[in-house]
Amino acid sequence: MTGIVVATTNVGKGREFQEILGSVAEVIIPDNLPLVEENGATLAENAYRKARSAADFLGTVVVADDSGLFVTALGGAPGVHSARFSGPQGDDASNRAKLLEVLGNATDRSAYFETVLCVYSPSDSVGEARYFHGRCDGYITEKESGTHGFGYDPVFVPAEGDGRTFGEMTSGEKAALSHRARAISKFKAFLAEGSQ
Ligand code: IMP
Repeated sequence: MTGIVVATTNVGKGREFQEILGSVAEVIIPDNLPLVEENGATLAENAYRKARSAADFLGTVVVADDSGLFVTALGGAPGVHSARFSGPQGDDASNRAKLLEVLGNATDRSAYFETVLCVYSPSDSVGEARYFHGRCDGYITEKESGTHGFGYDPVFVPAEGDGRTFGEMTSGEKAALSHRARAISKFKAFLAEGSQ
């Protein structure tokens, strides 16, 4: 089985990659990777920076991802700034509180999550980057429901679900609909094609 290096410090994310990739690839999470500032203007830029930095450091192909929540009534915010919406010291709870506060009683509560995966292959001349995208449309609730997941899960209802927030779903139910799972599934199809 091929080994795929995923540049993340998030163990849960590594597990999600492995659950979806199954027997197509074994997920390897290296430690001691150089820190990368996630201050790109787009998800793709941040994913590229993380993948490229780790790939150059390790001298091997590396996958990295970046995700965000894009809210229509906020002109696409928090978007690429989702992790730090309530400030540099903010956490998931304060980010959600700020989102509900700034949305107030807006009637258009539509939003989507997006993930961009970047697979970077280093080489002596010009390295190669390939991208896989995943998106999940839905809306923002007026109050939090559910304690599962992380980030904005308790305030996001996926359009293709049954009206529950991601925070009320099991990890398996969320993975059937989530932006990240969709991007990883596209990457899996690409790996499977290459191995034929
Ligand atoms: P990351 O790139 O996956 O680390 O995501 C950046 C930020 O986007 C996180 O800190 C969360 O605030 C938000 N986010 C990304 N994916 C999800 C998700 O699946 N559920 C809830 N929040 C998410």
